[in-house]
Amino acid sequence: MFENLKAQPADKILALMQAYKEDPRDTKIDLGVGVYKNAEGVTPVMRAIKAAEKRLWEEETTKSYVALAGDPAFSDALIALVLGDAVERANVAAAATPGGTGAVRHAFEMARMANPDVRVFVSDPTWPNHLSILKFMGLPTISYRYFDNATGAVNFEGMLEDLSQAKKGDLVLLHGCCHNPSGANLNLTQWQAVVDLLLKTGATPMIDIAYQGFGDGLEDDAAGTRLVASSIPECLIAASCSKNFGVYRERTGLLMAVSQDASARKLNQGTLAYLNRQNFSFPPDHGARLVTMVLTDEDLRADWAAELEDVRKGMLDLREQLASELQRLSGSDRFGFIAQHRGMFSRLGCSPEQVETLRADHGIYMVGDSRLNIAGLNKTTVPILAKAIIDSGI
Ligand code: PMP
Repeated sequence: MFENLKAQPADKILALMQAYKEDPRDTKIDLGVGVYKNAEGVTPVMRAIKAAEKRLWEEETTKSYVALAGDPAFSDALIALVLGDAVERANVAAAATPGGTGAVRHAFEMARMANPDVRVFVSDPTWPNHLSILKFMGLPTISYRYFDNATGAVNFEGMLEDLSQAKKGDLVLLHGCCHNPSGANLNLTQWQAVVDLLLKTGATPMIDIAYQGFGDGLEDDAAGTRLVASSIPECLIAASCSKNFGVYRERTGLLMAVSQDASARKLNQGTLAYLNRQNFSFPPDHGARLVTMVLTDEDLRADWAAELEDVRKGMLDLREQLASELQRLSGSDRFGFIAQHRGMFSRLGCSPEQVETLRADHGIYMVGDSRLNIAGLNKTTVPILAKAIIDSGI
């Protein structure tokens, strides 16, 4: 029967990684895959995670199952990290998932269970996996204007105009911070305007927060999410620990459903556990346990927060260097948006042909939509990239 299968489209970013590997040029620069890398090009295990892992190895006495929704201590710790005291803990249902992707998938599943006719509003552009999962599930999507290629900023008027078409029973997917792939984000005044619009339309927000701590800091990066959660009767929040704890392969995420009261929470909690049971039963525990240990131990937490802050500031420095080098070479401010963007990514806004020129002529690998991973740069490669951008006529 498997002869009936159709070949699936290759993941573009993984194909790019392969092409980079096979490129013999020693001047090549990888700005493709969305993984943090330090100046040496390494994705390190964070110090606090390493320390927690050692402690866990010494202290763990069983690998028996935990619970369908994962360890409640993990939920408590991550809810506190993401939501602070914006909402009552008693109103938040939560379940651990395999990575943020697992949380995203279950958020869509939960919305469909609640409303089989749900339509999902997605930003243009958005993380390609959002679209791919939605297509696979057969859920209708409506894209709303978000990134303006010409200015490198959010087209906020267009966004509000498009979101005003949403109605009760629809899901509006928002990026909590560090928008992937554009790097352009809402300020708090804009978040408030989105909240007001959502309240008017009755649509349900879903927030994907995968880079808390990579933009303006742990608290500031969660401000929009907290505003939504405290202002709107219901919302879903998919959180990933892959980047900010550097536990990519451990598959550590949490899906939260925020409601108005404890009885709604009970129904949501049962639904989240049920979804886990249907799809994979118990969620992975190792990464979640490490994250919990780090967040609940004063010293480990302080060390983690300090290392994360260094990562964040390193990326900001690279942004500023790249923007100023481009300003020097181009004699204009047209690349100033790179310093304004936050998180690991920026979208240059150039054509696929120009992206291809950068790859073919300069060995610079970025995603076809002109997304570049700032963390793929270092002090030496910033001027090389800047010159290549200008030489390619971008
Ligand atoms: N959402 C967005 C926007 C992302 O960029 C990512 C990571 N690429 C995720 C969710 C989830 O990542 P993971 O499943 O690795 O935790």
